Amino acid sequence: MWIERTKWMLANIGWPIAFTFWYQIMVVLYAANGEITQLALYYFQFLWIIIVCSYFSASFTPPSKCQIEDDKNSTANFCELCNYSKPPRWHHCRRCNQCVHRMDHHCPILQLCIHNKNHKYFLLFLLWPLQLAVFTVWHGYFNFWKMIRSVYTGEILSTTDQLRGTGVSNALMVGFAAIYLLKNQLPNLFRNQTLIEESRETTIYDLGSWQENVKSVMGSWRIAWLPVPIDERNEKKQK
Ligand SMILES: [Zn+2]
Ligand SMILES: [Zn+2]
Repeated sequence: MWIERTKWMLANIGWPIAFTFWYQIMVVLYAANGEITQLALYYFQFLWIIIVCSYFSASFTPPSKCQIEDDKNSTANFCELCNYSKPPRWHHCRRCNQCVHRMDHHCPILQLCIHNKNHKYFLLFLLWPLQLAVFTVWHGYFNFWKMIRSVYTGEILSTTDQLRGTGVSNALMVGFAAIYLLKNQLPNLFRNQTLIEESRETTIYDLGSWQENVKSVMGSWRIAWLPVPIDERNEKKQK
């Protein structure tokens, strides 16, 4: 258990370092040199704040405590490790050593379980960085090209150009990783099912329309895109 806790703590140190790196690249190397407009700088700072908030909301939102089912005869959902009958949609995470409500997966990138309470933040942590990646590549593709070109021409780049090129390659990696993960996550969000349920081919939790399914995870449209807890009305739809 302490190993998992240590990994989680290391993730909480590593991610803020990565966030700071991106901030430095855009603000110090582009904005300070007047190479991006004031409006683009505000947009970057908006994206940056929302990504940092999504990360910490995902990381510091613990799973709900399991309410033990009264039905002792139900053996289908009996958790031998916790020694109780768990309600439907609860799954035992061996890494966290507990049963987790609406467990999606134990995320190796954030080093925590993705469950009903933080699934929204996890999705925001994929969607917003994707926008930041597009933004960074848009503003720095020339520096990236310059870096690639220097490999062939032997041109010596300044430290600033090297940092910019590295920042853009970093953004490309983040962008592709986010697309890869969203490819699995979004179809499940629209069907109200988790990765675990997908592998079991059950879609019994579908609420009837993709809009309702999305709202049960993300909250009403007004707050769906913000890293704030979902409204009660939509939370009640969760099973
Ligand atoms: Zn359990
Ligand atoms: Zn876990």
